[in-house]
Amino acid sequence: MHGIDFYGTIHAVKILAVSDQVVERMYTLAPGGHFHDVDLILGCGDLPYTYLEYIVTVLNKPMLYVPGNHDPEFDWKDSRSRAEGGSNLDLKTARHKHLLIGGFGGCIRYRPDGVNQYTQLEAYMRAFRMLPLLWKNRIEHGRALDILISHSPPFGIHDDTDPAHQGLKALNWLMGIAKPRYLLHGHTHFYRNNLEEQATTSGSAKIINVFPYKIIEVS
Ligand SMILES: [Zn+2]
Repeated sequence: MHGIDFYGTIHAVKILAVSDQVVERMYTLAPGGHFHDVDLILGCGDLPYTYLEYIVTVLNKPMLYVPGNHDPEFDWKDSRSRAEGGSNLDLKTARHKHLLIGGFGGCIRYRPDGVNQYTQLEAYMRAFRMLPLLWKNRIEHGRALDILISHSPPFGIHDDTDPAHQGLKALNWLMGIAKPRYLLHGHTHFYRNNLEEQATTSGSAKIINVFPYKIIEVS
């Protein structure tokens, strides 16, 4: 298995996670070697695909992402609408080295014509569609997920009371079912001091607001 050496030691996977805001410094940091030891890129939505494509091209590492509700080039009528060089992980699972990763795009519906917006009930229906993949992982690997990436935060965690920034209850449910060690999300932009770390523990999961980017090492 990748990620485990001859002595059975599991090496940490260094992840660059991005969401919601183009960080201009990325255009100097990435080619300058700042992220040279990153193994995997994760996108949590609401970013221009050109930005994702730039990062994946410069770092030349695998990228998994979920769509947000403001992906500028996202066209739900066009299945080719995607960030080249990356994989859209919405309602899918993937394996990178020893890590099992799942994806859940979109956010709460707050506009009738909004793209990738779902009512709480619709989000549950989408989450149910992941069950066969989660069961498959549990049978094959003894666990469903290590990391869940989403655009929306879960309900009641890093979310807000205004209609556009309520978290999805389906994500709380998914965390209970899949028991990931990490949930990485975007969508909510916090500048408040009380959320400086932007990391919260819920059950066994560490929940991290990626906005606008985070480096995370996962063993
Ligand atoms: Zn959003």
